Amino acid sequence: MPESILVVEDEPALRDTLSYNLKKDGFAVEAVGDGRSALESARRLKPDLIVLDLMLPEIDGFEVCRILRKEMITPILMLTARDDEIDRVVGLEVGADDYLTKPFSMRELMARVKAQLRRSRLLREELEKSNAEATPQEKLTFGNLTINLTRREVTLNGSPLSLKPQEYELLLFFAEHKGQMLSREFILERVWGWDFIGDSRTVDVHVRWLRQKIEDEPGKPVRIVTVRGGGYRFEG
Ligand code: CA
Repeated sequence: MPESILVVEDEPALRDTLSYNLKKDGFAVEAVGDGRSALESARRLKPDLIVLDLMLPEIDGFEVCRILRKEMITPILMLTARDDEIDRVVGLEVGADDYLTKPFSMRELMARVKAQLRRSRLLREELEKSNAEATPQEKLTFGNLTINLTRREVTLNGSPLSLKPQEYELLLFFAEHKGQMLSREFILERVWGWDFIGDSRTVDVHVRWLRQKIEDEPGKPVRIVTVRGGGYRFEG
């Protein structure tokens, strides 16, 4: 799908020239001539970039830019008629990404448009990459059992379980060591801390409580199994 550009320019000749040249370069272009239409088109079209003239009837470019900046991250390339308006673009910090002073060459405009699109593509890719990396670590899933790490919530068949903080820590420790034989002493040291005053029966008691919550048949556990003479193993 071609990238879309919204052109906002009240001067018909320049609007046509901009549209023509952008279309020729393969962009999908919508062109409007005033600020009100600009807002309407931007919201409907969600364009990849907006070329926005500063002096417009009804709502001027500053105001359009200020409003759109709150609603979308689309790059905005401002067109100004005079050098002193650039100071206002920069000084007012309305959120334009770049600006061009009239008159400008089409080649210059194309270079700026492409630079902005490239920049926003990179930003989007980075954002998607960081989202993709964060997702698998949010949850640990074992069949119908899910541990939500960010919310510290455990669900069984989609329904949240009410776990005491220590039960949650123990389950999480098991989950992180799936398939490994864990001795009571090791569990006690890692989950309760080496300075915990108590003995390994604490582990047995918590395992029993956990089994009652996550096993179909707590008397015949298949998730947290007892290893004869050793400790426990989490099977998932
Ligand atoms: Ca104008």
